[in-house]
Amino acid sequence: MKVGILGAGISGLSIARMLNDSFDVEILECASEYGGIAKTKQVEGVAYHKIGGHCFNSKYPEVLDFVFEHILRKEEWHVIHRDAVIKLKGQEVSYPIEYAIGQIHQFDPQLAIHITRDFLSAKDNGDYTNLEDWFRKKFGDTLADVYFLPYNRKIWNKEPNEMSPAWVEGKLPIPDKESFFKGLISNEQDKMPHASFYYPNTNDQKTFIDSLAEGLNISLNYKVDKIEFKNSQWEINAGKTYDILISTLPLNIIPGLIQGTPEKIKIEASKLKYNKVSTMLWETKPTTRTWTYVPDPENLFHRYIHIGSFFNPSKNYSITEVVGERTYEEMVENGKKDPFLIRPVDYNVSGHAYVVFDENYDTATKNVKDYLQQIELYTLGRFGEWQYYNMDICIKSSLETAKKIKEKYYKPAST
Ligand SMILES: Cc1cc2nc3c(=O)[nH]c(=O)nc-3n(C[C@H](O)[C@H](O)[C@H](O)COP(=O)(O)OP(=O)(O)OC[C@H]3O[C@@H](n4cnc5c(N)ncnc54)[C@H](O)[C@@H]3O)c2cc1C
Repeated sequence: MKVGILGAGISGLSIARMLNDSFDVEILECASEYGGIAKTKQVEGVAYHKIGGHCFNSKYPEVLDFVFEHILRKEEWHVIHRDAVIKLKGQEVSYPIEYAIGQIHQFDPQLAIHITRDFLSAKDNGDYTNLEDWFRKKFGDTLADVYFLPYNRKIWNKEPNEMSPAWVEGKLPIPDKESFFKGLISNEQDKMPHASFYYPNTNDQKTFIDSLAEGLNISLNYKVDKIEFKNSQWEINAGKTYDILISTLPLNIIPGLIQGTPEKIKIEASKLKYNKVSTMLWETKPTTRTWTYVPDPENLFHRYIHIGSFFNPSKNYSITEVVGERTYEEMVENGKKDPFLIRPVDYNVSGHAYVVFDENYDTATKNVKDYLQQIELYTLGRFGEWQYYNMDICIKSSLETAKKIKEKYYKPAST
């Protein structure tokens, strides 16, 4: 049976690898290179992650097993320990902030006391009206006001009280009151999840992506414009045909490509909102940090990814990120405020980068996904499922979808 996969990002490449031994698989990709959001570009001998900096880890053993057993052996990665900081009132405090109260106390004792008082007295009844309400109930008013709300305003380009809290569960480490208190009197932060990551020994994530793509039939520079189901087959651009179709294309686009999609589904798809991200690669002063988070509303950048710290040996390069489309000149001008940033090296504005969890999110995603399920078109990935997925969750979702497809369609030849 022929399987068509639309999009050669991490999701498309992963599911293709999982199905390749049982089906005749082809991937159609509009870009001239595979890798999607996760791809890199070599600049001055450095892997520039054009859409933010990526490193890999997973709490799911089946994902680690897929990657380390079938794609790139564990020995071919090195481990990076998180050394992340938040710039708060001009000072660096360690991430996550709720365990840095002792550090805050050193430069602003009143703030530290208010954070502690509000955190310990916050009432979490499990019922949240919006994202702001979620932060206030989980962390208390002071921590919400000095860090979570200004930072989230920057990364979503939207007021947190106009957003759904749907994305946060499982994405942020959330201490309970007991562990918060232990954090005040000990070094609790080292036990938090996502404290270490893997990066390829070649010092370029492209090695991982190339390994995923090994042995796959990928048609590059192939833009999918039209999808039609006729004569029991999927037909793409009135040419290529497949028995099974898997899309990793954004949910806001796919209904418009499928012939015969009801108007009401197209309207639902048009309600889905996303953000682009602008990045700049910089030569920097030396640092051992991995990430710096910047809640300050006066500073355009919300995050620095110290990509040079992911390399072994390390190099003095960082990537700064701004949500939305910003010009090269705006990025350079903003960078001048920080003497750590020595020289701009390269710049990029992405396409789809972040899903926006607004008031339409729940119903619009449900309606579009229900429609795709009804016409038996599989949809997968960060924008195919319209979720805040990291690479590992894209792989997990690919594993689950590949299993369903094999159970339904794969008939091994009898011996
Ligand atoms: C700033 C940022 C930082 C991140 N950092 C990390 C990290 O550190 N670790 C981590 O695990 N994850 C990270 N992620 C998440 C990770 O990038 C994604 O989960 C993953 O790359 C998504 O892969 P995908 O295949 O689902 O989607 P995509 O990469 O978007 O792939 C979809 C593909 O479809 C193609 N396409 C689109 N339209 C068409 C068309 N009409 N015809 C043909 N092809 C088409 C696109 O060109 C693309 O190649 C980060 C994401 C961002 C935005």
